[in-house]
Amino acid sequence: MDKAAVVWFRKDLRVHDHEPLVQAAKSGLPVVGIYVFDPKEFEETRYGFKKTDRHRARFVQDSVEDLRSNLETIGVPLLIRHGDPAEAFSVLSEHIFIHSVYLHEEIGSEELAVEHAVRDSLPDASFMVSHGRNLIHPDDLPFAIEELPQTFSQYRKRLEAAETKVRAAVPAPLHVTGISLPKSLSLGVCPTLSELGLNELTRPPRYTGGSSLAKERLTDYFFTKDRLKVYKETRNGMLAEDDSSKFSPWLAHGCLSPRVVYEQIKRYEKNRVENGSTYWLYVELLWRDYFHLVHRKFGNRLFFASGLRDFSVPWEQDEELTEAWINGKTGYPLVDAAMRELKETGFMSNRGRQNAASFFTKNLGLDWRIGAAWFESELVDFDVASNYGNWLYSAGVGNDPIQFRTFNVEKQAADYDPAGDYIKHWLPELSRVPVPWIHATREMGFIEQEEYGVTLGKDYPLPVIDLHEAMRERREQFKQAMKQNDTQS
Ligand SMILES: Cc1cc2nc3c(=O)[nH]c(=O)nc-3n(C[C@H](O)[C@H](O)[C@H](O)COP(=O)(O)OP(=O)(O)OC[C@H]3O[C@@H](n4cnc5c(N)ncnc54)[C@H](O)[C@@H]3O)c2cc1C
Repeated sequence: MDKAAVVWFRKDLRVHDHEPLVQAAKSGLPVVGIYVFDPKEFEETRYGFKKTDRHRARFVQDSVEDLRSNLETIGVPLLIRHGDPAEAFSVLSEHIFIHSVYLHEEIGSEELAVEHAVRDSLPDASFMVSHGRNLIHPDDLPFAIEELPQTFSQYRKRLEAAETKVRAAVPAPLHVTGISLPKSLSLGVCPTLSELGLNELTRPPRYTGGSSLAKERLTDYFFTKDRLKVYKETRNGMLAEDDSSKFSPWLAHGCLSPRVVYEQIKRYEKNRVENGSTYWLYVELLWRDYFHLVHRKFGNRLFFASGLRDFSVPWEQDEELTEAWINGKTGYPLVDAAMRELKETGFMSNRGRQNAASFFTKNLGLDWRIGAAWFESELVDFDVASNYGNWLYSAGVGNDPIQFRTFNVEKQAADYDPAGDYIKHWLPELSRVPVPWIHATREMGFIEQEEYGVTLGKDYPLPVIDLHEAMRERREQFKQAMKQNDTQS
């Protein structure tokens, strides 16, 4: 059997800025890539949701197909498997002599458990792990991970004071010694959604996976549409596609490297304009890094009800309220529009996410982990650190310097969706309701309901809770939990 180097692709579905691929090419051994669809990723979680549902599964399928064709152009075949990764590697080793495995680092405990099982299945192979997720390489940080600043702004200031640099993206190898695969080994194809135990999509995907489309979006948003120069002013928009970059699905699956985004920001600044908006996109990429570092530092505490804090809030579990939230039937239009958008498309803007999460935790008072698990299931751009880090933040048990931050979802609707266009887009039953009622339908009397063609409680729900009352109760609970902790410590 010929010796080979295997590049194991996971959340790094690209050929550009891919150190493991470059290293494998340099090894001089024939190179083969592999991607494994692990059934565990598609199982139901303890909360009864699929860990990965159809929106993201479809995005991964498309990304893997695109990766295969990009690898082909440099002479590397991609094997696609569906099953337990350790078993997939073990079977592969019966056909080729796996000398070394090149891969990008994953730090989640589940990912590490899978990786250890693969290592155990290949006792003679060497494993070369590179970091390829963050904008700033963790080795270049001006502090040890234990000293990660408590808040994002302290973290950003530390980086700026130290003038920490972003490493250059590594170019894709032009040609690699591909392996000639034995006839007994099939290339394999992506499992269908139904083979993954998922339902078909009911509408075309909103975002299609793959680094080819990621690069297209990058060029389009920056240079063709010239939207980067107004990013800071538009990024809180919820409806228009170009309000924000929409890079997240591709970043989350590694179809796009943040360093490549950064290089294009610099190019834009040189050739077009350098302003607060160009800087702000860089800051958002630092947020992405920051949550990864929080994960790195705190490990599985990211998933604890008490999060990074020493106190526990009495989170509630209520199936009816959870269902109302999931299905966009809470009677609060902004939350409902955002939640229906998520269910239908697998995406929601950052403003929508902040409101939906704040409402779930600070108004409904529900266990934030259920909300996070629903996001995990649905989001096309799910990223463990970004999702759980942001949920902890929203729930008040993460890195927010403000102890009890709440969003008044009606005021937010009036501020960020003044004409109610976003709400009406996702809640057609409210299409005739004008401002100001569209932001607080509960205040409509019988006359308005009749005039605007919506009967509350029939066409659109009455509020499932009293917003302000619920918020006061939660605030009190929060205070008590903190006080109790203070007296105990
Ligand atoms: C409760 C909650 C859950 C979230 N879950 C995820 C998640 O699973 N995956 C994910 O990528 N983002 C998550 N976010 C962050 C943010 O909402 C999305 O990154 C953003 O909406 C994606 O749209 P965009 O690419 O147009 O963002 P842009 O505004 O264009 O930002 C550019 C990039 O910066 C990064 N970024 C921006 N804001 C954040 C942030 N707050 N945290 C981390 N990275 C950020 C993203 O990679 C994004 O693509 C979550 C936010 C909240 C409040």
